[in-house]
Amino acid sequence: MRVPRLAAAVTAAVLFVTVGIVLAVTTPWNPLPGHVPGGHVEPDPGLDYSPSEIARSRAFDSAVNPPAYAGLVVGVLLVLALGFTPLGSRFIGWATARVRRWPLRVAVAAVALTTLLRLAGLPFDIWNESVLRRYGISTQAWPEWLVDQLKSLAVTWVIYTIALLLLYGVVRRFPRYWWAGAAAGGFVLVVAVSFLYPVVVEPVFNKFHSLPQGRLRTDLLAMAERDGVPVEDVLVADASRRTTSLNAYVSGFGSTRRIVLYDTLLKSPPARVESIVGHELGHAKRNDVLWGTLVGALGIAGAICLLHLLMTSPRLLRRAGVDPETSQEPAPGPVPDPKGTGAADPRSLALVLALVTVATQVGTPVQNLVSRRIEARADAHALNLTRDPSTFVSMQHELSVRNISDLSPDALEYLLWLTHPAGPDRIAMARDWARMHRAQAPPPLNGPGS
Ligand SMILES: [Zn+2]
Repeated sequence: MRVPRLAAAVTAAVLFVTVGIVLAVTTPWNPLPGHVPGGHVEPDPGLDYSPSEIARSRAFDSAVNPPAYAGLVVGVLLVLALGFTPLGSRFIGWATARVRRWPLRVAVAAVALTTLLRLAGLPFDIWNESVLRRYGISTQAWPEWLVDQLKSLAVTWVIYTIALLLLYGVVRRFPRYWWAGAAAGGFVLVVAVSFLYPVVVEPVFNKFHSLPQGRLRTDLLAMAERDGVPVEDVLVADASRRTTSLNAYVSGFGSTRRIVLYDTLLKSPPARVESIVGHELGHAKRNDVLWGTLVGALGIAGAICLLHLLMTSPRLLRRAGVDPETSQEPAPGPVPDPKGTGAADPRSLALVLALVTVATQVGTPVQNLVSRRIEARADAHALNLTRDPSTFVSMQHELSVRNISDLSPDALEYLLWLTHPAGPDRIAMARDWARMHRAQAPPPLNGPGS
């Protein structure tokens, strides 16, 4: 038992150190390199946002924060209670009482647990949705909203069931060295999901069509061409059936890579849409999705090696109400499946989910920190490509006003939620860019006479 555990620990350490070094070296810590004449521009919401826009952002922030934090805390506490006490294994025992074969037991346990967790989060989701509705961001009626929740739960079922069937299959087949196969399998699965996501998952929630022929499409494709990024098509998602917020994104890689615009964006002036697409081209050119997927997959492979250490700890298994393999006491009832004890017992699934949750919560702040830098680099790319900081500033202003973004997030919000720099930060960088290129500085949008 000692050697596999040591090997798993060493592999986990090697993978985490590798991820750390890769992130330290490849993250664009300074997204806009070069000297800024006169120094960096300080972000200042008051420069471009009117007092009423700032007040609305504050009010919205204090309305959405309670459901967000409460939902997070309740979700984490519940999954920890299920995983680190016998509650979870009892729940799974109850849910799978009539199921014999192990693959079916794993599938039923995965569906039952993810459903329980989603149900626990539902009141907070309803609370959040009612805030979005009050502020006019959500355009959905409750039945449509509920259908979305069910679809999203079904996607969770499929992904978790596949991942956990593979995990338990490897655990049963290779009781001592399963971490190696599971880590490699986890890596492949993350890459596969990221690749397939745009063609398998996104269509579940939205309809996509090509940006119609016309001036905007021609201009955008010409810009991509000028940028040296091969783009055959720009897709439009029917986001307006759900939201009034503005967004665009790149997803997939290789043959599934796509640039998607929310249809809500098409009412903005074409120059602003170009500014957004310039940002997305920055992601495409740098292969940010593929890179993020590979680094994330490496981190997950490391986490699976750690999982092996925890799942082979008799103390932890006993605490989770699962018989460790070394247990001397025969279980009551029918003779247990010899491969179904210890980590291989599907009742350990609650412990797996608890460990996944802890790993995710630890990983999120790091992910957000790196993501904000990559987003800032995509902004710099848009500025270099369009050479139009004034339009960039008005687009960022429109984005944060329409989405009612937080204009001055606190440290905890940066840590937990912010994948992008705040609007005023993005605008300040555009003014840096103007100083560096001796371009006309974008005038304050909230300036005198505006
Ligand atoms: Zn971006």
